[in-house]
Amino acid sequence: MEKPAKGKWYAIWCLIFLFNISFAQAVSCQELQTRYATVQYADTTLLYDFDDELYLGRQLGRMVKQMRSVSRQDDIKNKIDLVVEKVETVLDMFPAKIHFTIVLLPSRKDVQRIYREKYNKKVDHIAYYSLREKTIYIAVDDASLRVFSHEVAHVVVDHFFEVRPPYRIHEVLAQYAEEHVVD
Ligand SMILES: [Zn+2]
Repeated sequence: MEKPAKGKWYAIWCLIFLFNISFAQAVSCQELQTRYATVQYADTTLLYDFDDELYLGRQLGRMVKQMRSVSRQDDIKNKIDLVVEKVETVLDMFPAKIHFTIVLLPSRKDVQRIYREKYNKKVDHIAYYSLREKTIYIAVDDASLRVFSHEVAHVVVDHFFEVRPPYRIHEVLAQYAEEHVVD
């Protein structure tokens, strides 16, 4: 019975190993570097979907157009950096240095699965910011300027204070930013 048992464990190990590889690839196949963020996504379609969902409104939209970027990628970089700067202005918090990661995921199911795997907790998030990883996980399906600004506000607050404010304060500030970024 020794051999089949070993074979079985080997097969299970392989499955876990392969699953982890495909999972890692699914999360971060490609990268886009902005001034403040590293955006990770499985394929360009997902990045473009995110771009489509991230409708900036009149004021910010006009600012991106004025930047006259050559490629769509540049346009997306400008958009992301502009939202970061707008959130900083709304909160009146300008951290000396800011860098974070954005992981684009197709749907809220993916966001919730990652949260469950990391924290062993079931949640109904469509996006969240991990303070420890300095990373925003966001479902592209549900992305909007409001949702994205909320998470970016968590990033700004996190980078601004040397001593982390209580969770409730974090949340109130993120909600405030979310409401005031949209014009
Ligand atoms: Zn929040």
